[in-house]
Amino acid sequence: DLVLTPAACYHIYPLVATRGRIPATGLLFDVACDCFRHEPSQNVDRLQSFRMREYVCLGSPQQASDFRDGWIKRGQEIADRLGLKHSIAPASDPFFGRAAKLMADSQIEQALKFELLVAVRSHEQPTACMSFNCHRDHFGTKWKLRDKAGDVIHTACAAFGMDRLALAIFAAHGTDIRSWPQSVREALLI
Ligand code: ATP
Ligand code: ZN
Repeated sequence: DLVLTPAACYHIYPLVATRGRIPATGLLFDVACDCFRHEPSQNVDRLQSFRMREYVCLGSPQQASDFRDGWIKRGQEIADRLGLKHSIAPASDPFFGRAAKLMADSQIEQALKFELLVAVRSHEQPTACMSFNCHRDHFGTKWKLRDKAGDVIHTACAAFGMDRLALAIFAAHGTDIRSWPQSVREALLI
């Protein structure tokens, strides 16, 4: 069992597994929690405890991949509204051990993970403030998640790193909130 969770979506899958088959319409979740990662760093954007908000889809392969693609677009629109210059880049999760490079390469090749990058610390090393992930049948198989026909379902998630987004906004518009562009303040309701 996970004591300190590294991601907000991980707890949804075993929970859904206790509720029986997944309906044909799929399932959508909106979750947020404190996440923990043992990746000590001097960088201001790499914390060991941080807040993550995630939107999660469980459904057919098509539903999961449409969900992920839709959120890439929506993520870009949100970043625009926040006045953040951004780019979308393919990415891979950090894997450790022998097969690491192979796994990371295959994840990029299959275009499973994309990140929305913003220059927070530097332009050379932009910071991933959001990630858009297709897990294919990884969690479905692991937790025996099936649809009414008995097929293993696919999952996808869109993750927002709240601390990094806050940093990105300060980096872009300064620390004096009163001097932020009006449109950004309106988007944030402040
Ligand atoms: P990175 O490529 O920077 O290591 P990641 O691939 O580990 O990020 P995800 O697992 O996709 O990130 O996590 C979702 C989001 O949570 C990231 O896009 C980021 O905004 C945020 N996040 C991840 N790790 C950290 C951390 N150590 N400190 C602050 N925010 C983080
Ligand atoms: Zn997730």
